Amino acid sequence: MCIISSYEERAVLALRELGIPISFVTQGLRPLHEECDDLVSIGLDMFEREQQLERTTASQWQAMRLAADRDGIVLAIVSAFRSFDYQRQIIARKLAAGLSIEQIISVSALPGFSEHHTGRAVDVGTPGCPPVTEAFEQTQAFSWLTRRGRDFGFRMSYSRGNKFGVIYEPWHWVFDGAPPNKTVERTGAPRCGPDAT
Ligand SMILES: [Zn+2]
Repeated sequence: MCIISSYEERAVLALRELGIPISFVTQGLRPLHEECDDLVSIGLDMFEREQQLERTTASQWQAMRLAADRDGIVLAIVSAFRSFDYQRQIIARKLAAGLSIEQIISVSALPGFSEHHTGRAVDVGTPGCPPVTEAFEQTQAFSWLTRRGRDFGFRMSYSRGNKFGVIYEPWHWVFDGAPPNKTVERTGAPRCGPDAT
């Protein structure tokens, strides 16, 4: 059974409530991302908030983090699962602060359109690097992820000049379950493609 249509209606309704014209979505390139309903805890993030990921993603993340740790690399969590309602609150707060919709969507996904809803996306940080900044690209953690992330099924969603019109996000990694040189049945992957922040 496909629940996309009702989820889409939920997203449309949320945008209407936020006063954001639907054209910002229909003209955009970002697909809808459904909320995950099979979340498990992955412990505390850099700010000591408990974070969650989708079950398989969580075990792969923990395995990857351990492997990095053995190589002397710290992969810290900045942000993992974010709910539809949490994303809506982020947008509402930014609108209330006086930011324009264009300013907001250049760095934040609208509710329903964040890859973090899937529970498969992690914003990764490392000590000594300000979180969610391009400086992450210069860290040993980033070069380790670039080398080894794929072994655990993780890839970077938003490279420079990505087709989604999302800013370059070297910190944002998503589990798509496809290890290198293997053809994997993608039934467990998100039904909708990637998205932002
Ligand atoms: Zn992100």
